[in-house]
Amino acid sequence: MFINTENKLIWKNGSFQKWDDTNVHILSHTLHYGTGVFEGVRAYDTLNGPAIFRLKEHTNRLFDAAKKINIEVPFELDEIIHAQCETLNKNQLNAGYIRPIIYLGNEGLGLRAKELSVNVAIAAWEWPSYMDPEAKKKGISIAKSSYIQYENPLHSGNKIIGTYFQNTMALHEAIDKGADEALMMDANGFISEGSGENIFIVKDFKLMTPTKDHCLNGITRQSVIQIAKDLNYDVIEKNLTFDDLISADEAFFTGTAVEITPISKVDDVKIGHDGAGEITKVLQNKFDEVISGKDLNYQSWLTYTK
Ligand code: PMP
Repeated sequence: MFINTENKLIWKNGSFQKWDDTNVHILSHTLHYGTGVFEGVRAYDTLNGPAIFRLKEHTNRLFDAAKKINIEVPFELDEIIHAQCETLNKNQLNAGYIRPIIYLGNEGLGLRAKELSVNVAIAAWEWPSYMDPEAKKKGISIAKSSYIQYENPLHSGNKIIGTYFQNTMALHEAIDKGADEALMMDANGFISEGSGENIFIVKDFKLMTPTKDHCLNGITRQSVIQIAKDLNYDVIEKNLTFDDLISADEAFFTGTAVEITPISKVDDVKIGHDGAGEITKVLQNKFDEVISGKDLNYQSWLTYTK
């Protein structure tokens, strides 16, 4: 949980600074009102050296999110792509988590966020596993949240800082109930996602996942859909009810942090048999081959940093 910050450098607005020197001003608009965007990206130590998984897609999503809330990024997309590679290399990381963030300055503190300076920072650190590694085999428990995800559907699909308040509260609520993660529903009562993950269910050998209109269109979600289709599974994107989940043969979360993590229990109901389901295991194994560069068919998803 706590980051080893020794000798770490953070890229900020075009140059590297020591980890503890990259302070945000107390009056940053983003700190007060959540007016910023971020990404969560992961690098893997592959057969051919460190590689960032789907870097272009993550960076595109970052820029799209900024545009959506009228933040003009003072860098080109390619500069931020390059800066993420450099941040990894400068910190001598072969694998790790990369966190780009775009936030507003402190020139004024009205709600009006026009004409404020725009800052871009990128940190990277070792983060081997978000969940207990056993969770990948045994699965995790989730609890249906009372927090509604994306009550304003305009805010779905992007990593906008302010929207994450709901997610944190949902996660805390789930943990307080003794579960590992939250299951968030959308404003129409359909399943949306976890607090930081997309959800899939398997029923009669078919994969199903909520449509991208009511969840973050996760890069892992998109990758798993592609991989599953390439493996000849049917993948259906549709509205899913809580009952669909309860009666599923298998269920799993996807995300940059959790990769593919089985869901073994929802509230008090057990899903499938003990541990990861058969199709979940097939997808986990293929995903491991893809991120480690062993499956040459997905090489275009890896950006080698050296
Ligand atoms: N939903 C939410 C709310 C998230 O924060 C994340 C993590 N970025 C995901 C889904 C999974 O997205 P990705 O696969 O792009 O990490």
